[in-house]
Amino acid sequence: MRAAVLRTYSEDLSLETVADPVCEADGVVLRVLACGICRSDWHGWTGEHPRVKPGQIPGHEYCGEVVETGPQSTWKVGDRVVAPFLLACGACPACQSGHSNTCGRQRLPGFTEPGAFAGLISVPFAHNLARLPDSLTPVVAAGLGCRVTTVWHALTDRAALQAGEWLAVHGTGGIGLSALLLGCALGARVIVVDVVPEKLTHALTLGAEAAIDARDGDAAQRIVEMTGGGAHLSIEALGIAATTNASIECLRPLGRHVQIGMPVGHTARMEINMNAVYMKNLALFGTRGMPSWRYPSLLSLIEAGRVDFTPLVAREVTLSGASAELRAFNGPTAPGVAVITDFSA
Ligand SMILES: [Zn+2]
Ligand SMILES: [Zn+2]
Repeated sequence: MRAAVLRTYSEDLSLETVADPVCEADGVVLRVLACGICRSDWHGWTGEHPRVKPGQIPGHEYCGEVVETGPQSTWKVGDRVVAPFLLACGACPACQSGHSNTCGRQRLPGFTEPGAFAGLISVPFAHNLARLPDSLTPVVAAGLGCRVTTVWHALTDRAALQAGEWLAVHGTGGIGLSALLLGCALGARVIVVDVVPEKLTHALTLGAEAAIDARDGDAAQRIVEMTGGGAHLSIEALGIAATTNASIECLRPLGRHVQIGMPVGHTARMEINMNAVYMKNLALFGTRGMPSWRYPSLLSLIEAGRVDFTPLVAREVTLSGASAELRAFNGPTAPGVAVITDFSA
């Protein structure tokens, strides 16, 4: 199969013909239909992701068609499925108690084993897969492996967003746009913050009530003023200290901050305003992925037409186009995300 392989950090991925993947007993092999290019891939590509080593095939937000099944898998050849980026074992205490996104035996294609920047991918623990509704195109469905599901879990489970609450979204990349679309669908009033004017304009067309350019001064203070005391819930969607602090500082007393952006840098540490956390009695949540049993709740909302993720996708690219998309994360990005849909070139 053709695959894009990371050979040298921060250099173009190497387009190679590699051996087809082997199907595991509890898994399937998918022909990849679409694979999103995510900021987490960029973390791996730059070498700052602790587990991504040269030789890695990136790609963790994919959907595909089953072409081979292991003897323990209940999927059939031809089924179209989406996979969470984090594949849980299904048997450990975390999985058995419903928190499979914290599984200690989790497998991570695209980070620690071959990912979906390739024609085929082997997916172990196939019980994590969800069937794609016919109404959903592969290019839109790719986001359901990572960004959309992560945000769905963050808003509805971790921070229990309520209709009528003010939701602040710091960073309007794939995570931020997903938070805007889902926040609106859930009845929240959404304010977005970014530093790219086109992304702010784009967010306003998608239902944001206000869009703040962080370069114009204290974004947190402006959110406090606009909301009459601060947002109820704020999410950080980039992984840097400036936006994390803005997210914490824009909250009203008893507000909730959710860290969705993967912290940047080799140490992944940052200096944050703990005085605001203390004085305002804030709650800070971490979140990563979504337990796969929660797919039906999200897919039914999409199938019913209550939320449309089409605006999330800005471009479809070929496998050889992935390197330029990774490089683009070095600076401020354009609105929307890129999805690989042609795996032959
Ligand atoms: Zn991702
Ligand atoms: Zn487990």
